[in-house]
Amino acid sequence: MSAAILLRDGFGRQINYLRLSVTDRCNFRCVYCMPEKMRFLPRAQVLSAEELLCVGSAFVDLGVNKIRLTGGEPLVNPRLPWLVEKFAALPGLDQVTLTTNGDRLGIYAKSLKAAGLDRINISLDSLKPERFAELTRTGSLRRVLEGIAAAQRAGFKRLKINAVILRGRNDDEVLELLRFARHEALDITFIEEMPLGHINEHDRKFCFISSEEIKAAISTEFPLIPTLENSGGPARYYRMDDSPISVGFISPHSNNFCGTCNRVRVTAEGRLLLCLGNEHSLDLRQILRESPNAPDLLKSKIQNAMSFKPESHHFDLNEAPQIVRFMNMTGG
Ligand code: SAM
Ligand code: SF4
Repeated sequence: MSAAILLRDGFGRQINYLRLSVTDRCNFRCVYCMPEKMRFLPRAQVLSAEELLCVGSAFVDLGVNKIRLTGGEPLVNPRLPWLVEKFAALPGLDQVTLTTNGDRLGIYAKSLKAAGLDRINISLDSLKPERFAELTRTGSLRRVLEGIAAAQRAGFKRLKINAVILRGRNDDEVLELLRFARHEALDITFIEEMPLGHINEHDRKFCFISSEEIKAAISTEFPLIPTLENSGGPARYYRMDDSPISVGFISPHSNNFCGTCNRVRVTAEGRLLLCLGNEHSLDLRQILRESPNAPDLLKSKIQNAMSFKPESHHFDLNEAPQIVRFMNMTGG
């Protein structure tokens, strides 16, 4: 059972979903997410597992009933199973979920299941080993596929694939990725690339491909039926007559989803971000470190920050990125 909703922004939206980044570090360097020579934060600037627990607990006391653990790559944080176990035991928190690149799921899937993790989203942009290595710069497709299999064996249900589609790089694999998802009974969501941080690997303007175009390509082979499923976020979901899986599209450019936004993010260094596409933030790390045993102070600061949540974001591929942080800094 969820607690009363105590977080409401200036536009009347109730906030019940937290995306919590447990590290900015990653063992991959996906071309759309970060530069090849990424500089990560000094460890002292990143929230410890205990501080992450304080932050998550404060949000749960304020009525948040779903926490997604993300990063960076959450599974490079060795305290992740501990953190999942602590969150799973919090009364009022209905769902603890994880977004991962899948590389270390082979090692952690069983312990995460035992710790009480509810669901996992796994990023997978290509089924061709060489292309996968190119897009992730350091990743191994084999290990990620093994990770997915390990999560299935551990008993996770409704695993979901997240695929960022880039024109000219992997848009020819949309149908293949969907066939894979159907075969493995995995939900799948196709994501439009967002202009977060400067990257030099490709020009986002030319690689952009809209969800509408991807949907049209899929519909030639698999007719899609819209569903009423709504996560309060940017995704729109569809199903197919001959398969139980859900097919989602995240369209930050072509869909304005801000009106029903129910979420906030906390970065690995403890910045509470009120909106993915804006810089409004509150430094929770400073509050935690200056007043380490003052949960009520932390909660009142979080509650007050809600009034800064902007009404909507604005992404324009023809402008230089307005958001200078990379997705791994944002808590994707
Ligand atoms: N490392 C984990 C992973 O890759 O799943 C979790 C963090 S990652 C930042 C979360 C999601 O953001 C991934 O699905 C990734 O594909 C997506 N992502 C990263 N950069 C993006 C960008 N510029 N535009 C759209 N999606 C992006
Ligand atoms: Fe790492 Fe995830 Fe970013 Fe890829 S998308 S570089 S796996 S944080």
